[in-house]
Amino acid sequence: MSVIAIDGPAGAGKSTIARAVADRLGFEYLDTGAMYRALALAALESGTDLANAAALTALTESVDIDLRGDVVKLDGRDVSELIRGPGVTAAVSKVAAVDGVRRAMAAMQRARADAGNLVMEGRDIGSAVVPTADVKIFLTASKEERARRRARQMGLATDEQSLKELSRSIEKRDRADAERKASPFVKANDAVVVDSTGKDVETIVDEIASAALRVIDEH
Ligand code: C5P
Repeated sequence: MSVIAIDGPAGAGKSTIARAVADRLGFEYLDTGAMYRALALAALESGTDLANAAALTALTESVDIDLRGDVVKLDGRDVSELIRGPGVTAAVSKVAAVDGVRRAMAAMQRARADAGNLVMEGRDIGSAVVPTADVKIFLTASKEERARRRARQMGLATDEQSLKELSRSIEKRDRADAERKASPFVKANDAVVVDSTGKDVETIVDEIASAALRVIDEH
């Protein structure tokens, strides 16, 4: 099975690029951030204390999180839109910092990689979940561009002040992800850095898909 890992900070364009690379190659696509978001939603809805690692780990083991393309199901309910809300976005880094949560998530993610060719996007795919991935991309963009993208995606205001605030909240989440002890957000040593600032999607997808085809041909 071939795995393409696309990691990077919030707003770098990972989802758009990962989806397009998967379409181009006929691979499945797995948004691992959506899995952590679904768990954060489950925690908020059940009133689980976000500081209680044992309760969050138990919750991970008791809920059913199912992802097929862009559809995210939590215990059979379609939560694809709910998980993008501000409450979940503010809570998700806390849930994702718990070691037991990450172990359970990584096991589910590896099972998907074992089941077929997969493009996985996240924060620790190339560094921790599938360090043997065939292609590892670290996708980044300038902080201004990341804020603009997120604002457009979420239908938020794009005036200078709003973008500055959004940029600060994105940086805060990236910092929390990078500073956690359990599998922190870090660039894998052998990942190829792709800066998406000012580049169009097609160009980046071409770059990644051809790198993937070269590696897969060699195998
Ligand atoms: O990619 P997205 O912004 O939806 O990710 C939401 C959050 O999920 C991240 O801020 C991070 O806390 C967590 N995450 C993670 N490991 C991954 C993917 C996402 O910790 N592989």
